[in-house]
Amino acid sequence: MTMTSASPPSAPRLMSVDEARDRVLAAVARPLRAEAVSPVAAVSRVVAEAVVAMTSLPPWDNAAMDGYAVRSADLSGASNERPVRLMVIGEVRAGSEPDVEVRPQCAVRIATGAPLPAGADAVVPVEETTPLDPVGQPMGTRGRDATGPLPASCLVHVAAAPGASVRRAGSDLAGGAMILDRGAVVTPSAVALIAGAGVRQVRVHRRPRVGVLATGDEIRAPGEPLGAAGIPDANRPGLLAHVAAAGAEPIDLGIAADRLDDVLARLRDGIARTDAIIVSGGVSVGPYDVVKAAFEAVGRIDLWRVAVQPGKPFAFGTADRSDAPQPILLFGLPGNPVSSIVTFELFVRPALRRLAGHPHPFRPLDRAVLTQDVSKSHRRRAFLRVVAERDDRGIVRRDGRGRVYVRLAGGQGSHVLSALAVTDALAVIPEATDELPNGAEVELWWLDDA
Ligand code: AMP
Ligand code: MG
Repeated sequence: MTMTSASPPSAPRLMSVDEARDRVLAAVARPLRAEAVSPVAAVSRVVAEAVVAMTSLPPWDNAAMDGYAVRSADLSGASNERPVRLMVIGEVRAGSEPDVEVRPQCAVRIATGAPLPAGADAVVPVEETTPLDPVGQPMGTRGRDATGPLPASCLVHVAAAPGASVRRAGSDLAGGAMILDRGAVVTPSAVALIAGAGVRQVRVHRRPRVGVLATGDEIRAPGEPLGAAGIPDANRPGLLAHVAAAGAEPIDLGIAADRLDDVLARLRDGIARTDAIIVSGGVSVGPYDVVKAAFEAVGRIDLWRVAVQPGKPFAFGTADRSDAPQPILLFGLPGNPVSSIVTFELFVRPALRRLAGHPHPFRPLDRAVLTQDVSKSHRRRAFLRVVAERDDRGIVRRDGRGRVYVRLAGGQGSHVLSALAVTDALAVIPEATDELPNGAEVELWWLDDA
């Protein structure tokens, strides 16, 4: 379209945050392939194929206490005053198979976790018994621990209901039952469940490998002298840490100069060994902003201006690799450190979570009340960096309606790292709102969940 020289260039349309997210997520056709790994290696990953218990738990009836396996009918009416005497005819240790049957008026000493011998239907804790020698004299005090020699008989000072202190076979898990469904995240406790159910390998989605590249002639690696115009690299370490915190595997692609050949070489290196690449800086429209051209050279690109604050131009593209079943995602984030981390949160993290197989890639939402007046740019959705009020035990304070009290974490400029570092959550201020007073309610995105 040609414009007449008289008409001013119209401002490019800003894309909404929601549309930008949708377009990024639309590029993630499916999660990464599944692989079989040990329960420990599966932690924090997403189950790709339902996990089924290989054994019932417990596999057989067993004792819940150290004590005596008994027939509950023998003990009816047993009490402190009228204890019942039972012959001790044997013992079952944890890990050994019972070799005696519990007959009437008899007991078998049993350890916690040992299989219940035939004939028994309850276990009496050792604390409720007194061991007796062959002539019926106490061998120790009531409740003496069960480590000594096997007594000839014992007094039982309590009655026991059928099933007392017995853990029934399958009462925890039935063999063949589904213990984790597709889409479940393997928590540390789920590792114990999987392993405890006799499952040796679990199919989980592969963890995304994510390259992180900083760009800028002024960006210095740790320890490099800053000189007159250098600044330490904040984004690459920060983004590598955020990638890891999102459950992905970070890959350091270094710092590129503002030169197409340098960016391109590192990008190609990254494409060869990652599922997604995050580039910080160089994505604006300045003369040395070469990231867009680099993305175009290796694949396809979209350069967007997103109606977000903080946030500057944001580039998203994809590149193909012959052995990759789906395209490599390319993210060009603004160089300002706060913009870089916030746009990671908004657009990159959900995509990485989806690649990793999470059915719900977004953060949980909450409601909060501002404890000060705030303002932001018109027509942009602002993500203010805020701190939640806590009591002296560190617990978040909420009002009668369950809303969190928040205040600004510090300066809201897109370069203010000191505020970003203490941020608990992002408070979302809608596009159409320019300012909000103390006491106004806002949507809150916590940043600290897994
Ligand atoms: P750019 O997006 O490249 O125009 O960079 C915008 C601002 O972010 C400039 O002030 C850069 O110096 C700064 N910046 C870019 N990359 C980094 C980085 N890796 N660490 C810290 N600051 C950066
Ligand atoms: Mg730059």
